[in-house]
Amino acid sequence: MAYAYDDQNIFAKILRGEIPNKTVTETEHTLAFEDIRPQAPVHVLVIPKGPYVTYDHFAGEASDAEIVDFNRVVARICQDLGVTADAGQGCRFISNAGEHGVQEVPHYHLHILGGRRMGRMVQPAD
Ligand code: AMP
Repeated sequence: MAYAYDDQNIFAKILRGEIPNKTVTETEHTLAFEDIRPQAPVHVLVIPKGPYVTYDHFAGEASDAEIVDFNRVVARICQDLGVTADAGQGCRFISNAGEHGVQEVPHYHLHILGGRRMGRMVQPAD
């Protein structure tokens, strides 16, 4: 099975400028913005600009340039926001995928959550 990308998802609309976002940083291949329903004092979403559905889709099919750019953006945001585990108090990186991952928006995104202690890694199923 190949991934099918739905270009009507909300992050695709953000990338096309059809709906606003609170941009944290932007590069040629990557956009980072504040989550609209923050779960922690720091809650940033990092997305590739390319049409990838999940982390494994991105990791498998994106170009080296896209993958490097994405990861460097993540590192820079963590440093800028003071949530690295060395200089700061750490954070949690989350990427939900598909039905069992309870992914709401079908455009790959990495959540960066910080500024408070996160609690259990996986909650009981609801
Ligand atoms: P996920 O369950 O991993 O797909 O998470 C999707 C995330 O996108 C949730 O944390 C939402 O709060 C967030 N979200 C949905 N719409 C927007 C939006 N327009 N701007 C920013 N974040 C959004």
